[in-house]
Amino acid sequence: MERKLASVQRVLALHPIENADAIELAQINGWQCVVKKGEFIAGSLGVFFEIDAIPPGLPQLAFLWTSRHADGPQPRPENFRIKTMRLRGALSQGLLMPLGQFTLPENLSEGEDLTTTLSVGKWEPPVPSGMGDFRGPFPPLVRKTDEMRIQSIPGVLDELRGLPYVITLKCDGTSATYCIDPRTDEFHACGRNQSITEGANHYWNIAKKYEIEAALRKAPHLAVQGEICGPGIQKNRLGLKSLEFFAFNVYDQQQGKYLSHDDARAFLADANLLAVPVIEEGEAFAHTLDSLLALAEGKYEGTNNEREGIVIRPRVERNSLILGGRLSFKAISNRFLLKEGE
Ligand code: ATP
Ligand code: MN
Repeated sequence: MERKLASVQRVLALHPIENADAIELAQINGWQCVVKKGEFIAGSLGVFFEIDAIPPGLPQLAFLWTSRHADGPQPRPENFRIKTMRLRGALSQGLLMPLGQFTLPENLSEGEDLTTTLSVGKWEPPVPSGMGDFRGPFPPLVRKTDEMRIQSIPGVLDELRGLPYVITLKCDGTSATYCIDPRTDEFHACGRNQSITEGANHYWNIAKKYEIEAALRKAPHLAVQGEICGPGIQKNRLGLKSLEFFAFNVYDQQQGKYLSHDDARAFLADANLLAVPVIEEGEAFAHTLDSLLALAEGKYEGTNNEREGIVIRPRVERNSLILGGRLSFKAISNRFLLKEGE
């Protein structure tokens, strides 16, 4: 499922903010965002921009980036994005605007994606060096790694309720995929979106350090996916001394499905590969949005760095109707997001 960086969303509820009379909180799915008081009523629709959205440089949005002391509306700065912030002490994530502020097609329905219609961009963290050269497209039988945010799809909590589950630490690094392409029998080391040429880059350094090709030659239908973390990658928030690989997926290319948690862990142990740390597991999932967001917060062990968050899955692989794919999602730490936005 792709993120909708701007979409038509319904205001589920409005809540007052203590000691603030000009603003209030609107609830959109699992998000809360500050709006001008009286601009919305509960049940009405608006255009919701999620955090990380780079909104179009329209005059009706210029208040977002124009300083109070400026003479008139300023052009949108290049690096502007919608961030997590606190306003009058209240957490605010996203931007909600009245539908009438934009030129939009008629008969819009709730949930409709407006990312392209409104030319909304997406902020991405800076690309580190040492990522290697393009070798070819992502191997076609493996899926790219991705996780949706719980606040955008809170209904998944009901899909998981009562089932055995596993919550792992979201390791803040860069995604890597290793597999043997069955069409050519060639081993591939891949980044988020592409296969990488063999050389002195992070993906191949990890492949060699852990002898991943040899492990996959014993089970060539499997692909291993994980996070490369360490010095030089995304601020190395785990505080590692050298590059490490933490696996979070084992995918069966033949059957077109992920191995369930226990089978994946067994394969990884056998292959001498580390797996992402388990934060919590249980026989019957009973978390709420709030309890997951609370669990997402904390420091990476042995460091003073806020952890990025957690990833939540059933112990046995299953499909999600809401996600239109495997049931798996993330909860990002709000403390992490507030720090990152500084
Ligand atoms: P967004 O979709 O929210 O804009 P994004 O697509 O850049 O952001 P991330 O925030 O990086 O995605 O979150 C998904 C990624 O998290 C996965 O692709 C994977 O590389 C990484 N990841 C780190 N730790 C884990 C884990 N324990 N389980 C699953 N994925 C993990
Ligand atoms: Mn994503």
